[in-house]
Amino acid sequence: MDSKILFYERLEDTVRCRVCPHNCLIDEGKYGICRVRTVKNGEPVAINYGEVTSLAVDPLEKKPLYHFKPSKDILSLGSFGCNMTCSFCQNYEISQGRPTTQFTSIEELTNIIPNIENNVGIAFTYNEPMMWYEYMYEAAKKIKEHNKDTSIVVVTNGYINEEPLMKLLPYVDAMNIDLKGYTNKYYKKVCGAKLEPVLETIKRCNDHCHVEITTLLVSDENDSLEEVHEIAQFIASVNKDMPLHLSRYFPRYMMKNEETKVEKMLLAKEAAKKYLNYVYIGNVGGIENNTYCPNCNATLIKRTGYNTEVNIKDNRCYSCGEKINIII
Ligand code: SF4
Repeated sequence: MDSKILFYERLEDTVRCRVCPHNCLIDEGKYGICRVRTVKNGEPVAINYGEVTSLAVDPLEKKPLYHFKPSKDILSLGSFGCNMTCSFCQNYEISQGRPTTQFTSIEELTNIIPNIENNVGIAFTYNEPMMWYEYMYEAAKKIKEHNKDTSIVVVTNGYINEEPLMKLLPYVDAMNIDLKGYTNKYYKKVCGAKLEPVLETIKRCNDHCHVEITTLLVSDENDSLEEVHEIAQFIASVNKDMPLHLSRYFPRYMMKNEETKVEKMLLAKEAAKKYLNYVYIGNVGGIENNTYCPNCNATLIKRTGYNTEVNIKDNRCYSCGEKINIII
C-alpha cells in the first residue's frame, strides 16, 4: 500500500527524496534507486507500506546479535526494496525484485508479539528496513507505546540520512549494522553506495542503542588483513566492546569469486581481536564462537550453533566482576 514519504524536498518540477544518502531526484512515475519510492499524481510515496514478504520467528543469534538477549527469539519480518545493489546479495529476490506480499497492519503485529513463546519483540530485517522506513518507524513507535519492554531490532546496511535515523532511534533497542568494507572503491563497485555515511550511522547508533557489526569477507575483494585491521580500528575508535561478526562469503547472485577460505577467516578474527573485545565468525560450520571475558577469559556464553549457555549475572563476569557489554 502507498504511504507518503516522510523525508523529501519539493523542487520546481521534481521531488528530492531525503531518506538515504542517495538523495534521489524522482520525477512523476519514476522510481528512486531503492525501487520503492516514486511520485504519483505529484505526491511522493513509498509503495511498500505494510507489505510483508517474509515473517518468521528467529533466534537473536541469527540476526546476528550475540550480545542482546542471548537464547531468546524474535519475530522477524521484511518487505522489499534496497538502496544498495550488492552483487553478492543473499536476498536479491526481495531486495531487487518485486515479490508477492501480504499486507500486515501494525495492529496485527502488535497483537502477535506477546503470543509467541520465548519472543522478546520484533526485528525489521531480510530486505533493507530503512527502505521500509515509513512503516517501520510507525510500527516501532506504536509497539513501544503499547509496551515499552518489547524489544525493537533493526538489521541494516546503515545507509540512511541523519534526520530519519535520529527520529527512529528513540524506539530502537538493538541494531546489527553491515560495514561491508573499508574503502569507497569497494562500496561503489560492489554495493553501489559510499562508505562515509555508514561510518556516521555506526557512530550515531552507538550513542543510542546496542550495536553489533557484520562484515562479509569476500575473497579477493575486501578480505585483506590490512582492510580487516582498518575495520577493527574504526570500530574500536567508536566502542571496543562493540561485537564484530566476520561472515564468510559464498558465491551468490552476481558475485562469482570463490568462497572465502576458512584459514583467511581465522586470520581475520585474530587481526580484529587486536583492537576489539568481541569478534565472531559467521557462516563457518562447527567453528568455536563462545564469548569470553576480556579481563579474565572466563567463558561467559557457550554457543553450539544457535544454542547458548549463558553464564553471566547483572552484566558482569561471574568470575572477576568485569562489566560486560551484554544485554540479558
Ligand atoms: S530512499 Fe530510495 S528514493 Fe529515497 S534517496 Fe534512498 S534510494 Fe533514493
